[in-house]
Amino acid sequence: MVKYLPMTESRVKDINLHTQDDESLQVLQTTVLHGWPIKREDTPSLAKPYFDFRDEITVEDGILFRGERGIIPRTLRIDMMQRVHSSHIGIGGSLRRAKECLYWPGMHSDITQYIQSCETCKMFENKQQKETLIPHEVPDRPWARVGTDLCKIDFLESTKPKTVIRKLRALFARYGIPDTVISDNGLQFSCNEFAKFATEWEFDHKTSSPTYPQSNGEAEQAVKSACERDS
Ligand SMILES: [Zn+2]
Repeated sequence: MVKYLPMTESRVKDINLHTQDDESLQVLQTTVLHGWPIKREDTPSLAKPYFDFRDEITVEDGILFRGERGIIPRTLRIDMMQRVHSSHIGIGGSLRRAKECLYWPGMHSDITQYIQSCETCKMFENKQQKETLIPHEVPDRPWARVGTDLCKIDFLESTKPKTVIRKLRALFARYGIPDTVISDNGLQFSCNEFAKFATEWEFDHKTSSPTYPQSNGEAEQAVKSACERDS
């Protein structure tokens, strides 16, 4: 049985080749195939980081897995981080995406650091700060103002799901896909069509309770203006 990695065949081949050149992963593979020592202290030091979850580790066609997640050789980690952060989604979204199919020791902090030093995200952030200092200036990129992690959308309750999705698609295509979309509990958001849209475009959809604090009225207004312009 070959485990499934959501990647192209050439990418999987790449992981296989780089695994063969990765000293730690070769030691790990030998340890897995020969059986783990009973005690942690008898484990080869390069395999020690994996000792606590040794039962989850398998080898399939020269690729190591932790559960369903492929263990990525050191030389491919930057490449993988670029991929999970390709649309400059926030740390939470990038980590979620990575955790679905990738693993390496320290992946969480590697990805966090990688995104914290991302030049594109920094530029985006500076722009937001600048705009906050000039409150009456009309933002030319409302999405930047709303932020990449959170976007609040306010639509008329009577709007049909198709219309909402069409409007959002146009907005996302123009300003980028946010990590999270918060909406009210309107029917157009609770339907299957919207859930499918969220899966396809890879954002989290949360519905707010009626008491959800209106913390960022200005951002909301910015999105509204964008929606009006695009409609
Ligand atoms: Zn970025």
